[in-house]
This record gives sequence, structure tokens and C-alpha cells, in this order.
Amino acid sequence: AAKQAGKNRLCLFDAEADQHARGVLKSVDDIRSGLARDEFVLFYQPKVNLKTGECIGVEALIRWQHPEKGLLAPGLFLPLIEQHELGVQLGQWVIAEAFRQYMLWQQHDIQMAISVNIAANHLQQANFAEQLKQICHQFPAVPPSMLELEIVETSALQDIDYILGTMKSCAALGVTFSLDDFGTGYSSLSYLKRLPISTLKLDQSFVRDILTDIDDLAILQGVSGLAEAFKLATIAEGVETDAHIKKLLEIGYYFGQGYGIARPMPAEQFPIWLTNRTIAKAGLLDY
Ligand code: C2E
Ligand code: MG
Ligand code: MG
Ligand code: MG
Repeated sequence: AAKQAGKNRLCLFDAEADQHARGVLKSVDDIRSGLARDEFVLFYQPKVNLKTGECIGVEALIRWQHPEKGLLAPGLFLPLIEQHELGVQLGQWVIAEAFRQYMLWQQHDIQMAISVNIAANHLQQANFAEQLKQICHQFPAVPPSMLELEIVETSALQDIDYILGTMKSCAALGVTFSLDDFGTGYSSLSYLKRLPISTLKLDQSFVRDILTDIDDLAILQGVSGLAEAFKLATIAEGVETDAHIKKLLEIGYYFGQGYGIARPMPAEQFPIWLTNRTIAKAGLLDY
């Protein structure tokens, strides 16, 4: 599978140098107009059961179809608006768009859970749960339990008690939570104790070298034990090769996503991917 991943590149987001050459965006106003002109789009990356190959959901990843600069990765524009009111607006757009996409796929008999990345800053907004409820009402045909929110900690969570309240309101709707890039940044073990988290997403930086780096392997094994103790699910990011899959299965990681399985793709591509891929053989995937 990994051998084929390069052939069929739907997007060029790993070509970071290329994007920098096009010039980094400087203006919040640019992003505001982009939103007004409906230039943002979500790509979807499958999450699979590494053993069976079954697709268990997709992660929505934002891109900006910029009129002059082309398709831009989130790293080029999200940091600009992270602490800005516009970041919250864009976050709202992403959630609503995920609901809309679920509905569209549903019309083609595809019921696929969607994970949306949500900045800690956004989750901490006073009316987060209320606004989520409104989106749910806008899409009555979509079960809110299809939504998983991946908490991205671009900053530390400020008020745990407050966030706990928000998360409980969301959980009451059926929405679930995961901690993204677990083990990096600000994520803290005390969150596991206090917040209704269902899944730990292991950052790709720990997965990349598991075949050769015994420290990364130790981290993955440790987190797996932690997850078991807290009754949490785990999913590995950055699964790029069949050797990664094999090793992950050996150490008890049964779910993963990464270029070796599928790259993030436009929404209309997903049903085709879902139909075309072949099923796993003896734990090794060959899509
Ligand atoms: P993330 O949530 O950890 O998403 C994984 C990133 O790794 C994505 O980059 C994905 O394209 C990339 N990736 C997936 N598989 C592989 C692999 O096998 N190898 C490598 N090297 N990379 C892989 P992307 O789409 O550029 O997104 C970067 C980050 O931007 C995301 O990291 C997430 O933190 C943030 N992000 C993306 N979309 C949104 C959004 O709608 N809202 C917010 N708040 N953040 C978002
Ligand atoms: Mg994520
Ligand atoms: Mg992540
Ligand atoms: Mg990551």
C-alpha cells in the first residue's frame, strides 16, 4: 500500500517547501474574505481497523482553495487566526460542513463517523455547546453521535471545570471526544482523569520510527497501558508503511490512519475509495 501511496497523490501537502515558496499568508482579512467567498473545503482521511481494513470513520481536514495561491494546508493559515474570533467562526463552519457532508454521503447509503479537529480555544468559548446544538437542529437527519471532536491543544486548556461542563453537554447529544497528537504539546494526564475523553490519538512523531527507535516503541507501549487502565481507545496517526501496521498490531494498536492507508481526499473521492479498496489479508493491508 505504501508503495502505491506516492502514485496517486490527491494533494501536495507534504510539499511544504513548495508552499512556502508561494508566500506565507499574512492577513486575517484574507482569511475572512476566503470564508465569505466559500473558499474553504474539507478533505477526508479514512481511519481504519488495522487488522480487518474496515473503515471506522474519517477525519475532516481543512484546506483553503485560494484563488491565487492554490490549495493551502491548514498549517499556513490556522496559526494566524488561532486566538482570533475568526478561528471560532471557521471552526463553526467546519462542524456544520461535516454535518452537511454526512448527510450527502448518507444519501448514497454511506453512514460514516466524522472526526473534526477543534482548537482548545474554540471549545472554551462560552456558547460552544449551544452552537453545536443549533447545528444539530439544522441537520435533523444526521445523528450527532456521528461526530467526534478531536481536541487540538494549540494552547493549554484554561478552565477545566468550565470545559468539563461544555463537554458533558456535548456528550449528552452523543458527541464523543478524542485527544489529538497525544503525548505532544500541552496534553496532560490529569485530563484523562477529569474529562470525558474516549480516544487517544497517538501523534505521528511517535509512530514514524517505531521499527528502529526503542524509545518511541516504549512510549507507544506505555500509552497503550495507560489507555487500557482508563478504558480509552487508541488510534495511531502517521501509518505510512505495512511494516508500521504489522508492528502496531503486535503491540496492541488496532486502529490507525496515515498515508500508507489513504491520504486525505476530497469528499467526492471517498465513496470511490470505500468501494475500491480490497480487504486485509493476514493483517497486512493492500488497498
Ligand atoms: P492532525 O489533526 O494531527 O492531522 C493529521 C495531519 O497529518 C494532517 O495534516 C494529515 O494530512 C497529515 N497526515 C496524515 N497521515 C499522514 C502520514 O502518514 N504521514 C504524514 N507525514 N502526515 C500525515 P494537515 O491536513 O496539514 O493538518 C495539520 C493539522 O492542522 C492537523 O493535525 C490539525 O491539528 C490541524 N487542522 C486540520 N484541519 C483542521 C480544522 O478543521 N480545524 C482545526 N482547528 N484544526 C485543523
Ligand atoms: Mg486531528
Ligand atoms: Mg493529530
Ligand atoms: Mg499529529
